[in-house]
Amino acid sequence: MPQQFALNVIGTIRSPYKQKFAIPRQPGLVPEAKAQLIFSEAYNSEPFIRGIEEFSHLWLVFVFHETADKGWSPMVRPPRLGGNTRKGVFATRATFRPNPIGLSVVQLEGVRCINKQWQLDLAGIDLLDGTPILDIKPYLPYSDAIPNASASFADSAPETAMTVSFSTEAEQFCQNQRQWPELKTLIEKVLKQDPRPPYKKKQTGEQSYGMTLYTLNIQWKVTGEHHYVYAITPLAELAG
Ligand code: SAM
Repeated sequence: MPQQFALNVIGTIRSPYKQKFAIPRQPGLVPEAKAQLIFSEAYNSEPFIRGIEEFSHLWLVFVFHETADKGWSPMVRPPRLGGNTRKGVFATRATFRPNPIGLSVVQLEGVRCINKQWQLDLAGIDLLDGTPILDIKPYLPYSDAIPNASASFADSAPETAMTVSFSTEAEQFCQNQRQWPELKTLIEKVLKQDPRPPYKKKQTGEQSYGMTLYTLNIQWKVTGEHHYVYAITPLAELAG
């Protein structure tokens, strides 16, 4: 029995999330997070996906490529438990695992071929830009949805009391641009998840943060249970 297997990357994710920080911890939490799955050359033809548009949701099997070489340990500290309690890696959905493989269920919004390149349009993703995809499987509600399942410390979607507001300039930026119609809602929902690491949540006093979404730098401040988005700047402007 071989103890190792070589796998093929069948596609790559194009996502608004350009860095790990602030990506929701599971899919579906921010439905406005839209992405494209771009098929690799060897799988870039219609027969591979014929009939896929008849499914509303898909499972994506992917590689945690950004952290794959950062190692792993048998026990991890889930952020959901405040970062202090240890659980076995196989009892969590942690990114640092013996095989850096992730699994996300996402909404399929469409299938397109642009300039001979096939792509799937997806929503509600929790994946970094550039994530390599190993496999796609249709989501089967009759088997995959288990309404009476129990899930330990992650029994329900994480809830935070965080509120979000925008400066006039940030609000106007969202309204005046046409490229990402759901930009403001995307930022709001990402921040409502409270992406700060657990130790930061315990600190009092004002904190400043930044993240990149699409090609935009978003800056905000946190006071108590409030995120205040004060600047949204195109990366090109920052570089110039
Ligand atoms: N739903 C998947 C699962 O359960 O296997 C992923 C869960 S994992 C806790 C989600 C986190 O993985 C995101 O918040 C982000 O920080 C991280 N992430 C997403 N894409 C990644 C990638 N390509 N490489 C490394 N980390 C990634």
